[in-house]
Amino acid sequence: MAFLSATVGLASGIMMFYFCASTMPDSTIFVAVAVPTPLRTLFHYSLPSSERIAIGSRVRVPFGPRKLVGIVTEINSQPDIEVAKVRPVLEVFGAGGDLTEPILKLCRWASDYYHHPIGEVLASALPTLLRKGADPQESSRVLTLTSKGRLIDQQFLGRAHAQRKLLGALQQSGRTREEVGAMDISSQTIRSIESKDWAQWHAEVPVPLEPFSAGSVNYSGITVTDEQATAIDAVNRRTDSKPFLLYGVTGSGKTEVYLRVIEPLLKAGKQVLILVPEIGLTPQTISRFQDRFDVPITILHSSLTDKQRALGWLRAREGSAGIVLGTRSAIYTPLKFPGAIIVDEEHDASYKQQDGFRYSARDLAVLRAGFEGLPVILGSATPSLESLHNADRGKYHLLKLATRPPGIEPERYELLDTRHLEKKNGLTRALRHQIGDRLANREQVLIFINRRGFAPVMICNDCSWVANCSRCDAKLTYHLNTNTLVCHHCGTISRNILSCQSCRSSQLSPLGLGTQRIEQTLMAMFPEFPVLRIDRDSTRRKGSMESFVSEIKTGEPAILVGTQLLAKGHHFPNVTLVAMLDIDSGFYSADFRATEKLGQTILQVGGRSGRADKPGTVTIQTDFATHPLLETLVKGGYFEFASGLLEERKEAGLPPSAFHAILRAEANASNTARSFLEKIITKVQVRNTVNLLGPIPALMEKKAGRYRQLLIVTSENRSDLHREVRRIIQTTESLRDSKKVRWSVDVDPTDMF
Ligand code: ADP
Ligand code: ZN
Ligand code: ZN
Repeated sequence: MAFLSATVGLASGIMMFYFCASTMPDSTIFVAVAVPTPLRTLFHYSLPSSERIAIGSRVRVPFGPRKLVGIVTEINSQPDIEVAKVRPVLEVFGAGGDLTEPILKLCRWASDYYHHPIGEVLASALPTLLRKGADPQESSRVLTLTSKGRLIDQQFLGRAHAQRKLLGALQQSGRTREEVGAMDISSQTIRSIESKDWAQWHAEVPVPLEPFSAGSVNYSGITVTDEQATAIDAVNRRTDSKPFLLYGVTGSGKTEVYLRVIEPLLKAGKQVLILVPEIGLTPQTISRFQDRFDVPITILHSSLTDKQRALGWLRAREGSAGIVLGTRSAIYTPLKFPGAIIVDEEHDASYKQQDGFRYSARDLAVLRAGFEGLPVILGSATPSLESLHNADRGKYHLLKLATRPPGIEPERYELLDTRHLEKKNGLTRALRHQIGDRLANREQVLIFINRRGFAPVMICNDCSWVANCSRCDAKLTYHLNTNTLVCHHCGTISRNILSCQSCRSSQLSPLGLGTQRIEQTLMAMFPEFPVLRIDRDSTRRKGSMESFVSEIKTGEPAILVGTQLLAKGHHFPNVTLVAMLDIDSGFYSADFRATEKLGQTILQVGGRSGRADKPGTVTIQTDFATHPLLETLVKGGYFEFASGLLEERKEAGLPPSAFHAILRAEANASNTARSFLEKIITKVQVRNTVNLLGPIPALMEKKAGRYRQLLIVTSENRSDLHREVRRIIQTTESLRDSKKVRWSVDVDPTDMF
């Protein structure tokens, strides 16, 4: 049978081909295709007019000797080369993977604004599988109830919560492995249900693609505060298309606002796109939405397989996912029934892509919402200065949640002036006492230090030689457990750590603090309590973060030592003391954004404390205890702190009061990169509303063996800036020696490293 149908399929395929190619008096049309290359133009190809094709279709086309998958952006367009030389499209892919019109529009805009080649922009908007020409409609295995499983009485399952949850979901429809995984169901639960013959994996059932419908809502007994109600109302009854900036102190209930805003949309069959920072995509965030709504949720994050990602994309596109929750690149997910876009922790650096196509997902969210007529909420306890500036100018509506819901006390800040205090392995006596008290009280303590490893410097006691990375302008960090020196910028690992490379002395000492050193110190100081070190090294293994989180959630007294990995997206109700140890570098940095980031970090980390009925204390050890900015932050709050910074930026003519773009040049020698930029400067005469600064070395000039030089383009007028950037790019592309130099453009840059 199988053989027969395959033959029939093949025969009809050939028939079709024959039919188009010669029997029909078929005319030829031309299409413009965006091909994934760094070239800034579209390419023309020919096609028989009978071929079913649309704008947004994926096609395979010849490109030089290669065959690439591109996107059709114009149909019936006039070729810009001789008609006889136009090559034919090789293959048109199934319409299921086409880019939708709104996403195309967004990509065109982004290509123009970020000055990035359209072909590469469109390629990055598509899931990898689709980019390769695969068919997303391809089937997938689904877990479905057996007839026995359908008869199970849920009551009878008693305390087997996970089983009940899974069976309940399966009552509605079969679920793919991805969907089951997203429900936080372990493979053990699945196996146990399978072994009882309640459910089975069915091979090769197509993904259900009918529009979703919302089931019941589970409120968990929360009554919204007046501030929350005002914010929810403002969004639900919006009268204009301005974005909303939801500024709410940590723990004030922003998520509750999102949930209430979403509710009527889901009921009306509208989909909601929620962006979260890379690091914030924790099971806790996901379950807030899952626990509240009975709708299919698609989750898009970096550890999905290509197949899972393509299926998630498809469910969003076909309207069968009610909520689409994802990190940065989820902004390109098409929605069939778009209802709203939410960007949580909108200040987070991960929304800006820092290589290749350098876009801001937050800014694109605002644009996309405008194009599609959707409400957009940017939420944060520590909004970016850009967004606050937009609120100041009346471009955004500002919604404030200034207080936490009743019963949840705000945390209290205490500055420990370390200039006059003695420290033992980085900890002052006052802090050691505080830690001891909390532990004795059977509470938890979080020690924040944003540097992994043991010590950031390895120094020779005899000649003061310091171990540097040979490929970067950076010092090597000593890692105790692997006994290595590691570069945190390029990943170089050195095992030769026994002797000074200058005087051969074997007297080397680690200097400064890292998570491993603090861990060791605390283990020695408080031997009867567990110390959990949570950083990128200790959470590399899959599932390790989850097991840390569940250990912390038991509420047993413990010391958590962590980097910013711990600072976001977690609520630890029994943490009543947060101590911050090494924040002072934020005051020395040459990056003008360093103080903004410092303030955000302090409040975000501090906000982890005292979530439940126990008020939290945040103790900051610093040499800058009397610094006016720090005082404003902890006494006046973020808003006052940020207003001060905005004022400073304005006086200095820095963003957000002015606009920046950077032309980065990278080469094997500093001079090559520098003279490349110098040549550009002599060739372009910018107009008087635009300034060119540079070439200046990047803050870390040498990184991974490449030297980076910058040309900074600034203007108070955005369209003037873009016009000049376009001219600069033209000039750069015309330079002959651009082979030796890699260059890129960064509009609205967020870092100069
Ligand atoms: P944020 O997102 O602003 O940090 P969350 O939405 O996570 O704050 O809320 C913090 C905690 O307060 C959560 O445990 C949440 O369930 C609770 N909460 C939110 N709104 C209310 C309310 N109106 N009444 C009581 N508790 C609330
Ligand atoms: Zn390095
Ligand atoms: Zn030495």
